[in-house]
Amino acid sequence: MVRSEDYQAMLDVAIAEARLGLAEGGIPIGAAMFDGEGNLLGRGHNRRVQENDPSVHAETDAFRKAGRQRSYRNCTMVTTLAPCWYCSGLVRQFNIGTLVVGESVNFQGGAQWLRDHGVKVIDLQSSECVDLLANYVVANPAIWNEDIGQD
Ligand SMILES: [Zn+2]
Repeated sequence: MVRSEDYQAMLDVAIAEARLGLAEGGIPIGAAMFDGEGNLLGRGHNRRVQENDPSVHAETDAFRKAGRQRSYRNCTMVTTLAPCWYCSGLVRQFNIGTLVVGESVNFQGGAQWLRDHGVKVIDLQSSECVDLLANYVVANPAIWNEDIGQD
């Protein structure tokens, strides 16, 4: 099984994806999915701006790149930001056992809802993740509101 100290190493993969997205001119949110032994299955980042596609969130990108899995119970989804309802729904739909979030300060999303439904949710409270997105939100408030579905 994955040791808890490995969660930061997993988050580092998601942060690298978020920074890649930022470099592309996109919203800096990254994610990665790992199997029960901690092997990387897929990684991705939000590409709303880059591809004009509101359905490409970091979590859905990593999930799709992981391809088909027989079971997600032992999988860990790692994301730089607490997942929105759309991505929280994905975690529940496929019974992903563990969710690691970099932060839930900029956005709380469905983290508590997932906890209430038996998902192991770990919040690493990463100041690096908080700052990365907060700086983007300040500079791009309209794009951020669009991403979280706020009019
Ligand atoms: Zn999402």
